[in-house]
Amino acid sequence: MNELNYQLDLVKAMNQKLLAKERMYQLVCDTVSCAFVYYTFDKNELTTLGKWDEFFDFRINDVKEIPKLFDVVEDSYALPLLDVIFPEKNNKNFASVDCYMKEKNVWYRFTTQVICTEEGQPSEKVICIENITKTKSQNDELSYMAYYDSRTGLYNRNYFVRLLDDYLEKAKRDNNVVSLLVIDIDDFQRINEGQGIIVGDEMIQVFGSFLKEFANDKVMACRLNGDVFGIAVYEPSGENSVDSIVRKIQDRMKKPFFLTNDREMRISASMSIVEYPEAASNAIELLNCGQIILFEGKSKGNSVVQYYSEKLMDKFLDAVEMDKKLREAVFQHNFEIYFQPQYYTDSRKIRGVEALIRWKDNVGNGISPSIFIPVAEQNGTIIPIGDWVLEQSIMQYMKWKEEFGIEFVLSINISALQYMREDFTDSLLSILSRYGMKPTDLELEITETVLIENFETISEKLRQLKEYGIKISLDDFGTGYSSLSYLMRLPIDTLKIDRTFIEGMTTDKVTRVIVDSILGMAKALGFESVAEGVEREDQFHYLSEAGCDIIQGYLFARPQPALQLEQLLQHMD
Ligand code: C2E
Ligand code: CA
Ligand code: CA
Repeated sequence: MNELNYQLDLVKAMNQKLLAKERMYQLVCDTVSCAFVYYTFDKNELTTLGKWDEFFDFRINDVKEIPKLFDVVEDSYALPLLDVIFPEKNNKNFASVDCYMKEKNVWYRFTTQVICTEEGQPSEKVICIENITKTKSQNDELSYMAYYDSRTGLYNRNYFVRLLDDYLEKAKRDNNVVSLLVIDIDDFQRINEGQGIIVGDEMIQVFGSFLKEFANDKVMACRLNGDVFGIAVYEPSGENSVDSIVRKIQDRMKKPFFLTNDREMRISASMSIVEYPEAASNAIELLNCGQIILFEGKSKGNSVVQYYSEKLMDKFLDAVEMDKKLREAVFQHNFEIYFQPQYYTDSRKIRGVEALIRWKDNVGNGISPSIFIPVAEQNGTIIPIGDWVLEQSIMQYMKWKEEFGIEFVLSINISALQYMREDFTDSLLSILSRYGMKPTDLELEITETVLIENFETISEKLRQLKEYGIKISLDDFGTGYSSLSYLMRLPIDTLKIDRTFIEGMTTDKVTRVIVDSILGMAKALGFESVAEGVEREDQFHYLSEAGCDIIQGYLFARPQPALQLEQLLQHMD
């Protein structure tokens, strides 16, 4: 009896243990976010567990039914769902695939694990089904971002380079040509600044959609960056010829683009065309080349179509070389200042000197400032160069003043970028006081064209400088578009008539009229007038008759090194 009781207790205890274990499995199954199908081979029995009832509103009696319920297998390389549910058919015990269920718009991942006996016979299988819709869409988004530009839906730069390389590889094999068009919306900055970034973004999107229309099996379009787009054409000809695409783009530009809120936008675009194998041997090179050619083309203005030419490329490379050399020169102070005297027309006495920078590169070639100053303005070296010119010429001027007791003006050319600096006035004043120069002895020249571009900021700066007694001279007058109203609002003392007018003055009547009226205007407004580039007697006589105050030019003196000018100063009375 005791023995029986003992046996009973044992069974009860075992049952309890089993129940506890079952409960544990049940709990685990309920908390996981997957559905399971458990299947036994010997009994051909099937149990669904976990989230099955939540996922599906149907029951199944046989694993064979599963594949029928799901329609789309992810990609052509994946195993059919049937093979995943029955991996043992292919002598495997594990398989996995992502499937799409159209009806529910949901992605599921099926993973089947087959459990075998010691003899290697399949005994059970567990099919785990996960809902992976969320990760899937995140992944899709990630891979979309890796290949496409989200604003326009065009290829992004990186992916485009890969595809372009494929084009080039193919062209190399088939002895073919690939053309690349780089397209840039003109004055896009103005749209962004004038109408706001949201409008700018929409413009990019609309323009991108327009370019997308060119895409076909031999043409692909991308957004390279900002407002710059690329179109690559494999085997350009006929409808796919570059000329045809360019023409279609130009035609489209004649009409406005329509944005939201009934906004109409008219834009223009500039384009460059480069070709493999002529211009480059790989995708990156071709792309760079296209952008360089575009940049060179755009220097001519808007709506430019610039074709590749070796000459243009060389010009760019020269500029790069110049850029490099200029930076070195700034470092080594490889500059010198020449001074060109200016004379009063009536007394022929020196009115002042204009400081003109000279640069000798390492090989000893003189490079004209009209070539390197624009490069310096572009790469920013104009700031240290300008500081150097200011300090050196002021130092030289004060040396002369002490030595020769001169009483004339020192004119220095100042680039707009220098005026734009916030500390320009302060640093100039501190140089003046360091060398003890009177502000009234200094004249700053600014060229008309750059002044007009930043009128408000610079004219304010000039007013400040003038308050300290510094003279202001408007250089190259007549080459820009300054109207009388501009002139009236400027605190200027001196007008320098550009050399081109002096050149044509004695032979061309219209030029003569212009010179006369500039001189008349200068007199009426109380400005001193300077004629630059006076090379001949007849020019001098004409200017003298017409009432020009000051003459500067080879006729009287060339720009010269300080030492040479000293001889002139020694003989001055
Ligand atoms: P700019 O200010 O108009 O200077 C006058 C230019 O005319 C100088 O050229 C001068 O050498 C030249 N010139 C003077 N008289 C005659 C003449 O009778 N006939 C001819 N054909 N030319 C004459 P340069 O020295 O080559 O300077 C060119 C330009 O470079 C200057 O034009 C000025 O805009 C700029 N530049 C020169 N030095 C500096 C500087 O230190 N800073 C800045 N920002 N620009 C400078
Ligand atoms: Ca000047
Ligand atoms: Ca000038």
